[in-house]
Amino acid sequence: MTGSTIVVGGGPAGVLLSYLLARGGVPVTLLESRGDVDRRFRGDTLAPPVLDYLDSLGMAEPLLAAVPHARAHAFRWHTPTRTYTLADYRWASRRFGYYAVIPQARFLPWLARRAEEHGARVLMGARFRALLRDGDGRVCGVEYTRGGAVEQLTADVVVATDGRSSKVRQVSRLVPTELGAHLDMLWCSVPRRPADPPLSGLDLFAAPGSTVVLLGQDDSWQVGYDIPAGTLPDVRARGVAPIVAAIRRAAPWLGDRLDGLTEVNQLTLLPVRITAVDRWTEPGLLLIGDAAHVISPVGGNGINYALADAAETANQLVGPLRATPVDPAHVDEALRRVEAVRRPPVDREQAFQVRVEEDSVRRLRAGDPSPGGFLRFVATIPGLSRWVGRQTRKIRIAEPVPAIRDRVSA
Ligand SMILES: Cc1cc2nc3c(=O)[nH]c(=O)nc-3n(C[C@H](O)[C@H](O)[C@H](O)COP(=O)(O)OP(=O)(O)OC[C@H]3O[C@@H](n4cnc5c(N)ncnc54)[C@H](O)[C@@H]3O)c2cc1C
Repeated sequence: MTGSTIVVGGGPAGVLLSYLLARGGVPVTLLESRGDVDRRFRGDTLAPPVLDYLDSLGMAEPLLAAVPHARAHAFRWHTPTRTYTLADYRWASRRFGYYAVIPQARFLPWLARRAEEHGARVLMGARFRALLRDGDGRVCGVEYTRGGAVEQLTADVVVATDGRSSKVRQVSRLVPTELGAHLDMLWCSVPRRPADPPLSGLDLFAAPGSTVVLLGQDDSWQVGYDIPAGTLPDVRARGVAPIVAAIRRAAPWLGDRLDGLTEVNQLTLLPVRITAVDRWTEPGLLLIGDAAHVISPVGGNGINYALADAAETANQLVGPLRATPVDPAHVDEALRRVEAVRRPPVDREQAFQVRVEEDSVRRLRAGDPSPGGFLRFVATIPGLSRWVGRQTRKIRIAEPVPAIRDRVSA
């Protein structure tokens, strides 16, 4: 009989993995602690290679047709005196030369429905609380709560996709380390109007003492404001006025749309973290996505690395889980291969982010709002921003194996 999988956490990594395994004919149960997918201010930016990947499954066009979204063709860094185009994505893909800005609250239900159509069991309101282990200590299932009841479920493999504070990781033998945390972000959202300036969609406004980010959603602007890590209580004590003033300086055309922002508590905090885990796997268990590696929002790629992990995991697992009988040693080898393939690009991205974060913090503290060293070089050499745009390929999302690709998209 075909082996089964439990996926813990219905974020981008968990929902895509459930979809792919179900499409590849593997029984899968997805546990999501929340009763809904109402999540704001998450990684909403699907990169060109991820859109190419969805296209190879016949899903990009249906997604883009069904789900309202915006398209960001470049990443621009604005200072009070000039604008630098740091990445131009128009040459990053033949068909999808842009980041598709799709709120997770729309993307995930769309994908979860497709997973269910292929037979995935999606349990909303199911909160993981413990790992089950067999006599050898191998993970063989989970205990979770749902509607007040405690339930147990066994499977050939458990994949943790429960995000940056992963409860699965906490109760496993895998150990996280913080690599960098100099900044926190505060987010709010204001309506987008047809007469607003046509920004690139991914715009950073740096001025001495403040950085404001504007992310263009189809019907709103997601506005980010960065503060030194851990200083929210001081920011609260100073009040919201300096933040509103910084946003007004960056985008005066927002006008009366900021009038309703009267308290710091109306802003949503995202502690920017760069977290690595010593190993992603132990027998019967794999961590992927934010559970295995938190990536800073610099570049907006947390969601893309999580989706690339899911793609690789499905590719590696579908064969061993469809074998009869399922050999746990083969499954565990597949889990180790996922880490071997995915860890190098993740490590490189995190090392890059640590450098960018440290450099940006140093420059902003020194009152210099322009992009530093390499980034400024990119902006001043014609054509280099296209090369940077094409570097989204370093996410390294694998092509689907035939067992997944050749099943008709649901
Ligand atoms: C508040 C916030 C804001 C963010 N903003 C940005 C941004 O602006 N730009 C950017 O690039 N990235 C941002 N990110 C990061 C980005 O959203 C993540 O990198 C991406 O969503 C990772 O996907 P994932 O599937 O690994 O984990 P997640 O998206 O975190 O999904 C984890 C899922 O697991 C569920 N879960 C948690 N615990 C349990 C449990 N015990 N049992 C069952 N289910 C559980 C959660 O409800 C959630 O649905 C943000 C993240 C957060 C948390």
